[in-house]
Amino acid sequence: MPSPTRILILHTGGTIGMAAAADGYRPLAGFPERLRQRLESSADHPASDYDIVELPPIDSADLRPAHWPAIAKALLAHWDSHAGFVVLHGTDTMAWSASALSFMLRGCAKPVVLTGAQIPLDAAGSDALDNVRGALHFAASPALCEVSIYFGGRLLRGNRSRKLAATRLEAFASPNYPALGEAGNGFVLHDEHLLAAGERRFCVPVYDDQAVAVLTLHPGFPAALVDALVANPRLRGIVLQTYGVGNAPQGDRELMTALERAAARGIVLLNVTQCLYGGISQETYATGSALARLGVVAGGDLTLEAAFAKLHLLLASTDDAAAVRRGMGETWCGEMS
Ligand code: ASP
Repeated sequence: MPSPTRILILHTGGTIGMAAAADGYRPLAGFPERLRQRLESSADHPASDYDIVELPPIDSADLRPAHWPAIAKALLAHWDSHAGFVVLHGTDTMAWSASALSFMLRGCAKPVVLTGAQIPLDAAGSDALDNVRGALHFAASPALCEVSIYFGGRLLRGNRSRKLAATRLEAFASPNYPALGEAGNGFVLHDEHLLAAGERRFCVPVYDDQAVAVLTLHPGFPAALVDALVANPRLRGIVLQTYGVGNAPQGDRELMTALERAAARGIVLLNVTQCLYGGISQETYATGSALARLGVVAGGDLTLEAAFAKLHLLLASTDDAAAVRRGMGETWCGEMS
């Protein structure tokens, strides 16, 4: 059978396909037709042939972990018939979904490129067509064997990306990893930063939306918040967003005891930094060592989004907390330095 050359565009929602309503932007029906028409009528229409399919379009602020398998399954339904994939997604949770897809499609030998827009396709000054054209270009690049985000002229590793700008067209960055490619005079792929094709280990689990929660420390953080979370019997993991290299208020006995109670109840505690650059080193300060003593797993330089998505996937795949902790310590698809 000849290798496929067509690209699949999967529309999941987001500003790219929205229109203004009385209460603000909302998804508008009929986006695939409008996109096709705009791509075909523009002077530099895409070089590759493509198909467009759609999930019920949502504002990605409404996305829950339970949506992730639907996206993965829609891609897998076309996996053998297409050479690459463009996922149109709202920008608000694009980095979360890109991270989740990277772990579900571990070892994918084909490009999966998420993109979207800050300004709807049909609005003046929209960044939609530029983003879709770039994503289509990179989705046709066989050297790209990973889940990425193309946005505002840059191709970034999906599980390293974060939405940093609420309205700027260059909305995303990957603070702890170089860009995989960019637009300039044509499109350039930085081969030296790409993930090598690995063993295919696809895993599309059933996620429990309530299995993982995020706690962001702040001065005076109430221990009662930890206890309130732990009271939820469905909670199995907490991503702790701590200060700097992984420090927490060790002197707050109430908080430390609450975390200890969470650990004793079998909840996996994962430490990531609130900083954009760098990662966790729990042994540097006594305030970090206190967490290490509680058995908190050091999350290296994982982004919050990647930490959350990976912990979710592990907890959805096994009941063995030791296996979850081990998995968090491994680098699966370039998510950690
Ligand atoms: N609220 C929108 C969404 O995430 C924002 C966007 O797409 O830019 O769906």
